[in-house]
Amino acid sequence: MQSKGTLVVISGPSGSGKGTVVKRLREIMPEVSLSVSATTRAPREGEMDGREYYFITRDDFEDMVAQGEILEFTSYCGNYYGTPKKEAERITGEGRDLILEIEVDGASQIKRLVPDSVTIMLIPPTVSKLEERLRGRGTETEQVISNRLARAREEIKLATSYDYVVVNEDDGVEECAETIREIIRAERNKSARMSYITDKFLEN
Ligand code: 5GP
Repeated sequence: MQSKGTLVVISGPSGSGKGTVVKRLREIMPEVSLSVSATTRAPREGEMDGREYYFITRDDFEDMVAQGEILEFTSYCGNYYGTPKKEAERITGEGRDLILEIEVDGASQIKRLVPDSVTIMLIPPTVSKLEERLRGRGTETEQVISNRLARAREEIKLATSYDYVVVNEDDGVEECAETIREIIRAERNKSARMSYITDKFLEN
């Protein structure tokens, strides 16, 4: 017998470095899986169906929702994004932890549905650093940058509803990944998760 795996929700606005941190986390915690979401947005260059996302049509997405096959979903910048339920249940049912890299609306849905999930928000250290990072890409128009900045501030306002907030300093990827590893390890020892062992002491 073992306890179910934990759902680990990681959110972070554009400019928080979330993608890089999650990539490093997976290298140092290879036993933890990353959920592959379904989305209606078009693949970006280098993205592969079934690896970054399942790229599906709006009709198929709406069908999946209607059939109860999506654990949480949201509409973000005009496209649907959602977590396939079956895969998440299979992995956690095997006692393995699963990372969901999702935005704030999905995170709050998961917390409501699965109260023992752990939610982590990754944030940049300061507003000016956030702005610097968003501008640093050098490819976006002023309008896109100010939209992203406004959206990031809105998302960071919700940080207090998360279980943990982790600050990604410049060159902070390694430290952030290690901090999140410690959080996941500590969660595994929550008393409620250990009851499959402690309950045995009460049997006689
Ligand atoms: P992108 O299009 O840049 O890959 O993702 C846009 C946003 O959607 C990111 O904040 C990402 O974390 C979020 N996202 C990706 N998959 C899901 C999902 O399954 N559910 C929700 N709620 N958000 C998602």
